[in-house]
Amino acid sequence: MSATARAVHEGILRRQSARESAARTYARALPIVPVRARGLTIEGADGRRYLDCLSGAGTLSLGHNHPVVLEAIRKVLDSGAPLHVLDLATPVKDAFVTELFHTLPPGLADHARVQFCGPAGTDAVEAALKLVRTATGRAGIMAFTGAYHGMTAGALEASGDASHTLVARLPYPQDYRCPFGIGGPQGAELAARWTESVLDDPKSGVPHPAGMILEPVQGEGGVIPAPDAWMRRMREITATRSVPLIADEVQTGVGRTGAFWAVEHSGITPDVMVLSKAIGGSLPLAVVVYHEDLDVWEPGTHAGTFRGNQLAMAAGTATLIYVRENRLAERAATLGSRMLNQLAALAGEFSCIGEVRGRGLMIGVEFVGGEGGGGAHSSAPEPGGVLDGGVTPAGKRGPSADGPRPAAPELAAAVQRECLRRGLIVELGGRHASVVRLLPPLTISDEQAAAVLDRLADAVETAARELGSGRAKAGATTGVGAHL
Ligand code: PMP
Repeated sequence: MSATARAVHEGILRRQSARESAARTYARALPIVPVRARGLTIEGADGRRYLDCLSGAGTLSLGHNHPVVLEAIRKVLDSGAPLHVLDLATPVKDAFVTELFHTLPPGLADHARVQFCGPAGTDAVEAALKLVRTATGRAGIMAFTGAYHGMTAGALEASGDASHTLVARLPYPQDYRCPFGIGGPQGAELAARWTESVLDDPKSGVPHPAGMILEPVQGEGGVIPAPDAWMRRMREITATRSVPLIADEVQTGVGRTGAFWAVEHSGITPDVMVLSKAIGGSLPLAVVVYHEDLDVWEPGTHAGTFRGNQLAMAAGTATLIYVRENRLAERAATLGSRMLNQLAALAGEFSCIGEVRGRGLMIGVEFVGGEGGGGAHSSAPEPGGVLDGGVTPAGKRGPSADGPRPAAPELAAAVQRECLRRGLIVELGGRHASVVRLLPPLTISDEQAAAVLDRLADAVETAARELGSGRAKAGATTGVGAHL
């Protein structure tokens, strides 16, 4: 790194920490200054290059600056089209809606309405909550433990870390930290029964709700895929009780989980879908798509100045078409399950990995402390185990008799730091910030995926050794990526 480049890099970081809010997030763990980016790669002001598996928190399904996205943006700029149009009709918007409806689950596409709202995921969540409240005349919302729906008041209330909430909280099924201690299909069934009884018990203390909101895979909550059978139960439970079901696909949409929309895995048709991140092809855009029967709100019920971002719509259209035509959802499913298998092998080598899980290219590795019982810990894959539909390693039945081990956020943070030192950007998430998350672009090549896993394995080895908490098991080799 030249002395000038280093001075620029350090100066910008110093000014950032002096001038920006104490609430800043990614910038704290990732002290880099991106100046150029293409695909999976980011180059910093210091000349260093990184493999970016954060992808704008799951936004960049085609990676940075994909040629089709840049071309779509340039075309709008060169055409002289207005960039700001409130919610007026334009050819660019018309093309976006046509392509979006083309991709929707058929049961919804045939009767869909779309509401453009403020450009963030959280704006679309607010709009969806207002939509179902207006349509049902009820106020309450049901949401799940560990949920993340955004940072504005209503979305935050429905999220797992709400401190003041009128939202009724229901158990989201999970294997490793199953609240019922059993995990697997039985744990999910108990979670569903609890939901059913809260709705049907007239003394449950929970008024009949305006809607239920769920993530098909909890992202910020620690990469927890909902079992398909549980998703179908939620659909049936809500449909039979006239409770609109809202699927928050802000993070899971546009091929990320191995299906174009994550609800397709279970085959359910939600009443409302909340979409953002990837649908804007890296620019800010959010929409709510919902069944026409819910479209009973008055004009102006949900307005906003920034509902017509033409560049984002053009970039989004290009992204949706590219993902569909190049079958990137299938690619995410295949590569994702291969990566999960490789990571499951890594979990077999390191006792500090409590669980590896994910769906498609939405992957999480949970770090834990304490000692695993007798060699292979509770969630190590069974010998020769392969992934069941790319969801979780086969043979994993949830917590062992002595329960899951305590989360290890310091270790996860150390792994993230070691990854960065090796030129790999990863995200942290989960209830205790102990889950290292991978959200690579769907365009990632086999070789790049191998490089990502090699760097991650190397980082785990170093971090575990330095913290003295995650001894490598006997005979451990960390060349996991080599087998991709
Ligand atoms: N819903 C989900 C499932 C999300 O993952 C996020 C962001 N991580 C949001 C909503 C909020 O989106 P935004 O940050 O754009 O407001």
